Amino acid sequence: METIISIDRDKAPSEQHEPVIMNRWHPDIPMAKYVTPEEPFRVECMDWTGGQMKNDDSANDVRDVDLDPCHHLSGPIGVRGAEPGDLLEVDILDIGPFEDTAWGYTGIWRKDKAWGFLDDYFEKTAKCIWDFNGIWATSRHIPHLRFAGLTHPGIIGCLPSRELLDEWNRREADLIQNGPEHDTPLALPPEPRGVMLGKMSGSDLEAAGKEAARTIPPRENGGNCDIKNLCRGSKCFLPVYVKDAGLAVGDLHFSQGDGEITFCGAIEMPGWIKLNVRLIKDGCNKYGVHQSMFQPGPVDPDYSEFLVFEGISVDEDTGKQHYLDVTLAYKRACRNAIYYLSKFGYTGEQIYTMISCAPIEGHISSVVDIPNACVALQIPTSMFDFDIRPNADGPVRQVEPSDLAFTT
Ligand code: ZN
Repeated sequence: METIISIDRDKAPSEQHEPVIMNRWHPDIPMAKYVTPEEPFRVECMDWTGGQMKNDDSANDVRDVDLDPCHHLSGPIGVRGAEPGDLLEVDILDIGPFEDTAWGYTGIWRKDKAWGFLDDYFEKTAKCIWDFNGIWATSRHIPHLRFAGLTHPGIIGCLPSRELLDEWNRREADLIQNGPEHDTPLALPPEPRGVMLGKMSGSDLEAAGKEAARTIPPRENGGNCDIKNLCRGSKCFLPVYVKDAGLAVGDLHFSQGDGEITFCGAIEMPGWIKLNVRLIKDGCNKYGVHQSMFQPGPVDPDYSEFLVFEGISVDEDTGKQHYLDVTLAYKRACRNAIYYLSKFGYTGEQIYTMISCAPIEGHISSVVDIPNACVALQIPTSMFDFDIRPNADGPVRQVEPSDLAFTT
């Protein structure tokens, strides 16, 4: 299988031997490479920060990370024969970390730098390093825990059309201008600083950089959808908006829980992915597709026993009842899991991290039983080497002192 995009991990994104990195969505990015349907190919990817993180016991690199050039994606990959309106069917044949960098990381940021789901409650910058042993992940920063990774791309999608990009910029600018008061950003407007659009350079790059969409949110084209079950054997059905499609992929995750809650909440890593593509001509029209669709593959860790934490839409801090608020309910479910697991000796940061990146299931149980939405956070019991279920003897504290890495 031909490697159509290769990465030099000793070099910065801008110093790669070919201009195959893009960190924004824009319709005019020149195709980095071309592929033909039914001819499988391999793509290498940087980690989402472009190599800014180190395998050490300090979170200084998390604190100091430059977010403007993130995410670093490989592409765009031109698909011969693709036209707007087609549906691009992408097989994820296989995916993994590089043999010589069998580690990844998860980060917690302070809310003055980035934003996490529970950033009102976690005010320290922290980092967790994970070691990979085949399908398994373990961490020196979180003992008594081992789980099988559901390795997947956090980001996959095709370039937007001019009209779609304009629509994204219009609606996100409106939210930034007119949205509710909030102490972290509601959305990120185009940011020319740090823009990389593959082969585009000079005044073209400068002009495109002022309007190209950030890669943080998922949108109609897929993008940063962070669907944890999109592992090997999965299929993506991506709407094509420009000639040759312009497929881009990156932000590979060794594992992630539903919600990716710490923000840098998966086990992030550089790695490779093997893909095959085919075209469903006029597929968007034929099937009424207005947004990317996915078909998760048959390879999943076979966890069958979960401890399930419920959450409802009541603000725990003020006692205020909210109306069918699923986001608030999920926060409560996460906090209920944190209260419980801390009784075994884990710190809040350790639990916040593990429920963010282990194969945690998050389910919406009901959205009609007024006034409470009900959500369920499901933790596989067998990923711990001790019994986390409640019993009459009480929790057995796992005593050795340990914690995540913090800033120095
Ligand atoms: Zn990621």
